[in-house]
Amino acid sequence: MNELLGILPVKLKESMKDNGIKAFVADQILDWVFKKSVVNFSDMQNVSKENREKLSTLYNLFPFKNVEVLESSDGLAVKGILTLEDGAKIESVILKERDYYNLCISTQCGCPVDCKFCLTGITGFKRNLKAAEIVGQILWANNYLASKKIDHRISHLVFMGMGEPLLNYDELIKSLAMIHDEQGFFISTRKVTVSTSGFIKTIRQLIEDDVKLNLAFSVGCVNRDKRIEIMPVEELNPIMDVAKVLKEYQALHNRKLTLEYTMLAGVNDTDQDIQDLIGLAKYLKAKINLINLNPHNKIPFKEISNSKLHRLKTMIQNQHVPVTIRFRKGRDISAACGQLGESRMEEANENGND
Ligand code: SAH
Ligand code: SF4
Repeated sequence: MNELLGILPVKLKESMKDNGIKAFVADQILDWVFKKSVVNFSDMQNVSKENREKLSTLYNLFPFKNVEVLESSDGLAVKGILTLEDGAKIESVILKERDYYNLCISTQCGCPVDCKFCLTGITGFKRNLKAAEIVGQILWANNYLASKKIDHRISHLVFMGMGEPLLNYDELIKSLAMIHDEQGFFISTRKVTVSTSGFIKTIRQLIEDDVKLNLAFSVGCVNRDKRIEIMPVEELNPIMDVAKVLKEYQALHNRKLTLEYTMLAGVNDTDQDIQDLIGLAKYLKAKINLINLNPHNKIPFKEISNSKLHRLKTMIQNQHVPVTIRFRKGRDISAACGQLGESRMEEANENGND
């Protein structure tokens, strides 16, 4: 059966027409999915029973067979643990911002990049997600907001959940098309940020394919010898070459570029490390986002002190580079960066069942 969320609205309408569903009914169905956020054909009240039955034999609407929801006590984060058709589990996090909702999306089940400070990396890699499974997370989140009578839908996306988006390029591009489509989720590219640990060839591919996005680059450490120890991706993608291709990418448009810097005590936190980071940010005209390590007993590093974090922030500010500190939302549900792949989910994936 076809995944409905994997088919662009214009194609979906054609396919429905070929199956005897009238154009106005097809429009109603798109409205139910993308505007009213229903996850079952049976909830589409103004569609006839006959058509609803036909639809359910033609398409699979919701790509998850089970959903577990964890709400953080600070009210700022909601984590969805979503079971895919093959039993694998992924996580997605709704983040409440001041006047909108952001969704942190996964692109892979696990991650093969193996950054030493990231639980997703430590947990290992299971498989790439299909486009329908990527955008299905938006449908889940919108359905959750609607069920809570919240008068908002997801308006911003960060590809910072499980996995490395640029290692699942084709499905990423397909999902972006669904995201931008006027009859799809209709979210502007300006509100979409894709985070990467830095793959030169694929960033070059973004340039060739003219894909304009806000990018976030996970630096780890600017010093190559130190970086290679914590981010094996450095071996084939030296940071200075990544910087060059990022600069080329930035020259093509005026989207934002952020340098994500996860603070690891005694590893990448000397004044020289931060000076190198400032140099890179100036070269790329990028903003810096300092993320203190979110610790876990399986992660062999420690966070830095709050006072040091603020001192380093001031050091960056003094050199006129924009800098923010990532505020940790939803600590009690392990919703923060690098913590996805936690507990029950990890066990299920290891055991190959749900
Ligand atoms: N694979 C992509 C996107 C997912 S990771 C990437 O690496 O960019 C999202 C962010 O979380 C990255 O910036 C990563 O460096 C950061 N991160 C990973 N583990 C972390 C941890 N334990 N604590 C804090 N940040 C972490
Ligand atoms: Fe993968 Fe990103 Fe984690 Fe590295 S930080 S292991 S690239 S998810």
